[in-house]
Amino acid sequence: MKINPYLRLITSVWMVVSAPLYAGALSPVDGMRDMRYSRRTAAEAVRWQHQLRQQCIELLHLQDLMNLRGQLPLRIKRCAEADRSGYRMMELEIAATPGRRIAVVFTRPSQGAGPFPAVVCVHGHGGSRHVVYDVETIYKGFAHHLASAGYVTISTEVGQHQVFEPGRTLIGERLWDLLRCVDYLRSLKEVDVQRIGCAGLSLGGEMAMWLAAMDEGIAATVSAGFLTLMDQMEKNHCPCWKFDGLRQRADWPDIYSLIAPRPLQCQNGWKEPPSDFVVSFARLAMAQVRPIYQDLGRPNAVELHAHCGAHEIDLAALMDFFDRTLRVRP
Ligand SMILES: [Zn+2]
Repeated sequence: MKINPYLRLITSVWMVVSAPLYAGALSPVDGMRDMRYSRRTAAEAVRWQHQLRQQCIELLHLQDLMNLRGQLPLRIKRCAEADRSGYRMMELEIAATPGRRIAVVFTRPSQGAGPFPAVVCVHGHGGSRHVVYDVETIYKGFAHHLASAGYVTISTEVGQHQVFEPGRTLIGERLWDLLRCVDYLRSLKEVDVQRIGCAGLSLGGEMAMWLAAMDEGIAATVSAGFLTLMDQMEKNHCPCWKFDGLRQRADWPDIYSLIAPRPLQCQNGWKEPPSDFVVSFARLAMAQVRPIYQDLGRPNAVELHAHCGAHEIDLAALMDFFDRTLRVRP
């Protein structure tokens, strides 16, 4: 869709002028955000995380599957394999639920027996499980670069807009499929379960946030092209991020706060279109993520990386982050 340039200019002026409104409790929907994080002791912060995580599991209609986590067989089928530069790439199928299977791409380094660090790589709207390996895209082939650098990688599809199984939710099914990728990684002796991370761009940045928020075993997260406030996404965005009850509980900084104190890098480009994931909104959102990292004693574990690009991965920053957080065994 083409956007009128005057409208674009007006929107961008409005975003700058109105930005301070979003910083505090002045947002009209904020009054409903009853789980908004505020400073507290470390023990209370952990309790708050547990409470919000539990509420999200219920809103996402995932309680029954979460109860079965670790018991559901993976029923792995190998479909194809090929050698790439420094790694072996496999096309697999695994069971997501007892009645539904998903296709995944899995890579492991050609040399060595591990245990290797691993990263769940997540694509955005219009993408596929393969696109994160493609160096000619906005993803910069980050999954390929991680695979070449000695990480195990895995990728599946999260771009669907229909709910597959009755009684589920869209975000719940997307998240569950990523959790199953993690289950697969944890089943492998060549993966170091203490060093499993995730990364994604756009919808992939959103789903990387959800994955790390809901699975406390995710050790490090890169969420690119997504950090903002929900008010900003009410217009000009595909509404697939929304589900019943979410806005009444939380805003994105609260969901990111579930990742604390584990390392988190958010990336936002200075050339993002004004109606998208602009740095000014990312800064406002990040100011609401930092408090829980302070309360949990790891203020430096969270970073907002504002880069010179647009809606894209900053590859060097991503590789550097995982080198610092996952490459070396703690
Ligand atoms: Zn969508």
